[in-house]
Amino acid sequence: MSAIRKPVLPPATLGILGGGQLGRMMAQEARRMGYGVAVLDPSPGCPASHLADHHIQADFSDAAAVRKLASLSAVMTFEFENVDPSVMDGLESFPSLDPLFISRNRWREKNLARNLGISTAPFFAVNSLSDLRSACANPEIQKCKGAILKTCEGGYDGKGQWRLQKEDLDAAKTTISLDQFAESLNQELRTIFTGPRADFSSTTTGSDGAAFEPSIAMASEQTPEFILEGMVDFSLEFSIVGTGFSDGSFHCYAPVRNEHRNGILHRSLSSANLEKESRDLAVQYASSLSQHFRYVGTFAVEFFLENGKPVFNEMAPRPHNSGHLTMDAKISSQFEQHIRAICNLPAGSSEALCEAVMINLIGEDNSDLSGLEKALEIPGLRFHWYGKTESRKGRKMGHITAIHQDLFEAEKRAHQAFECLGWARQ
Ligand code: AMP
Repeated sequence: MSAIRKPVLPPATLGILGGGQLGRMMAQEARRMGYGVAVLDPSPGCPASHLADHHIQADFSDAAAVRKLASLSAVMTFEFENVDPSVMDGLESFPSLDPLFISRNRWREKNLARNLGISTAPFFAVNSLSDLRSACANPEIQKCKGAILKTCEGGYDGKGQWRLQKEDLDAAKTTISLDQFAESLNQELRTIFTGPRADFSSTTTGSDGAAFEPSIAMASEQTPEFILEGMVDFSLEFSIVGTGFSDGSFHCYAPVRNEHRNGILHRSLSSANLEKESRDLAVQYASSLSQHFRYVGTFAVEFFLENGKPVFNEMAPRPHNSGHLTMDAKISSQFEQHIRAICNLPAGSSEALCEAVMINLIGEDNSDLSGLEKALEIPGLRFHWYGKTESRKGRKMGHITAIHQDLFEAEKRAHQAFECLGWARQ
């Protein structure tokens, strides 16, 4: 489809659907490289709008506004996965809608991984309390130390997830009635499965646009409302951030180690220190996803490391928070690679300039920057602030990255800076 595309050179305009921090960082790189930027986002003053030549302030489902964005742009891309396919009818985008269609639904995503031979946690479809109960009783799930019930669509940063401990799994095996099993679950789950939402006769496919025909056979398949996933007993979490190019090549950075707090990424370290075999396997998994989709653009694959082996968690079809350290520590950042790919230019270098530790600055009701001056005294500290108009609890407001040749030293400095900013309480 895109193999014979002509390169898109500056000062052409790049169109971005979504004007949050990812759109902003794409726009920053696009501007540095001499491109114009058009952004569509409903929020006035959204982070990317400060860097855009054109801000179309409209809803993401406004087809006319999306057409306007397309008319201003030489290339269209996204900063998020929940793009309504019907508004893209007949419009070309990079990446294409296929990876978005798959990755926005955990059922499709995990099945694709499984079909590509990528190791995943055991998972089962759940549409009712009786499905939940039999999934809990499944021997593959019973082998795990617990399980997580996840909504197939719409969950992010740990939202839409309920943890079931070993006792809950045991209750599923031994309890005679469903009501009794429901009793053994936490309050929220009980409400879901015994309350008004208990009838899941209609399932979500994610695609209601008649004109959108994903090339993947699974498209017409009905997907469940939830999946139950076995809890992976991981030693660490890591991600592969990489970029697919029109010539079929895939270029990725060294695996990044990720640590979460309250289901949100807290920090990323430039090296996950994996054994060569695990690293190669994870890169092979990411590369097979890239090839499957003939992916053009940057994406991330999140993994658990269990018994030294990578286990697929999820894929994000866009630049990713765990790749932010590439802006300060790699020759070409994830955003530069994304722009090179979508503009059909050669790949940049994913090589490291140094080690780095990135820490997210997650909002409280008030996010004050009074410690910033002190933090900026720390050598090798890079500060990124997204210019959001309002701080809210759990909102990503910015991040800091400490760079150094030595990872341990970078880690120490990142933490000093984080302490100065006084946000250590999250
Ligand atoms: P997710 O939204 O699926 O990426 O989940 C958010 C976080 O919850 C992950 O980064 C893990 O820390 C944890 N988590 C999710 N799924 C599992 C699992 N199957 N086993 C263990 N931990 C998990």
